Formats: sequence, C-alpha cells, structure tokens
Amino acid sequence: MLKNFDSLFDLMDAFPDEQTCVDHLRSIRWKDGEYCPHCGGNKIYHFSDRKTFKCGDCRQRFSIKVGTIFEDTKLPLRKWFMAIWMITNHPKGIASVTLAKDLKITQKSAWFVLHRLRHAARTMSFNAPLKGDTEADTTFVGGRERNKTLKTARAAHRAALARLLCSA
Ligand SMILES: [Zn+2]
Repeated sequence: MLKNFDSLFDLMDAFPDEQTCVDHLRSIRWKDGEYCPHCGGNKIYHFSDRKTFKCGDCRQRFSIKVGTIFEDTKLPLRKWFMAIWMITNHPKGIASVTLAKDLKITQKSAWFVLHRLRHAARTMSFNAPLKGDTEADTTFVGGRERNKTLKTARAAHRAALARLLCSA
C-alpha cells in the first residue's frame, strides 16, 4: 500500500524509473490475481524483461498497459503518475497548457491525459474507455455534474484519482 505523496519529489522518489511504475500498475491491475486483458485467462507467463507477459490460453503477448487508459500512448507511466499527482494536489484544477509545460509533453497529449484521467476518476478504474465512450463523457459533464457545484465535483475527482493511484 502506498501512502499519499506529500510532494512531487516524494512521488518521483517512489517511482524513480519506468519499471517501478510498471510494477505498481501491475499490483493495482492484478491485486485480485493475474489475468489476460484479451481473453481473461489466468495462466500468465512473465518475460524476463519484466514488462512483457503472455497468456497461456490465447497465446497473445501484452504489456500491463493493455486494456487501461495508459494504452495507445507513448507517454511513460511516470508522466501519467506525475499528472495524477498534479491534478490531485491542485484544488483549482490544472489547465492542459500548464500540464503540457510541466510534463514536457505536447498540448494535444496533455488534453488526452486530462480526458483519460477524468474517465478514470468517473469510473474509479484505470480500465480503458469502451469505443464511443467520448459521447458518454460529454453527457456526464453537461448532465450529472451540472447538479453538483463545480467545487464538489473537482474535489470528488481529485479524491478518486488519489485513491486509484494508491489502491495497490
Ligand atoms: Zn488470453
């Protein structure tokens, strides 16, 4: 179990490289047992690179990012974790411009990161959105969230993300 990190420095201390992030994501994803993101099979082989896995049932190779919001992006997990820290520790929210600058990523990536993390906070999971989920997201922002005050919604969002990152 990871504690909440008091500073960005503490976070980076706990995750000095990509492998520690991969290991942490693995402990979150597989806390109830290992499974294949393709077929759900439970016979998982570990490669010696500590990043690649193979399913004993469907024989597909995969990384721990498959089936998560971190898939389909070249961004290292360290930057995702930093983004989560920044969002959870800045009560007034983070603009995509700020995130882009601080993480040294493009504005387009920053927008994507914020969008996906919103999805994670809403679903309380790092599972990837289903295809066509973008519309559901818009509905949520305009509909259910309109009834809460913006402040409450943001606080709930931050708390959800913090819990997710430390849920292993
Ligand atoms: Zn499989």
